Amino acid sequence: MKGYCMKCKDHREMKDATQSKMKNGRDMVRGVCTKCGTKMCKIGKLE
Ligand SMILES: [Zn+2]
Repeated sequence: MKGYCMKCKDHREMKDATQSKMKNGRDMVRGVCTKCGTKMCKIGKLE
């Protein structure tokens, strides 16, 4: 799935995506940018 990388400042394919939850209970996905290796997250459910 894709997410927004803060370092690349662009949308990148997300590696090692895992489902997570924010403190307010909203669903989010955590992963790593395939391009630069920076941790990235996306609001929503894992596809
Ligand atoms: Zn990146």
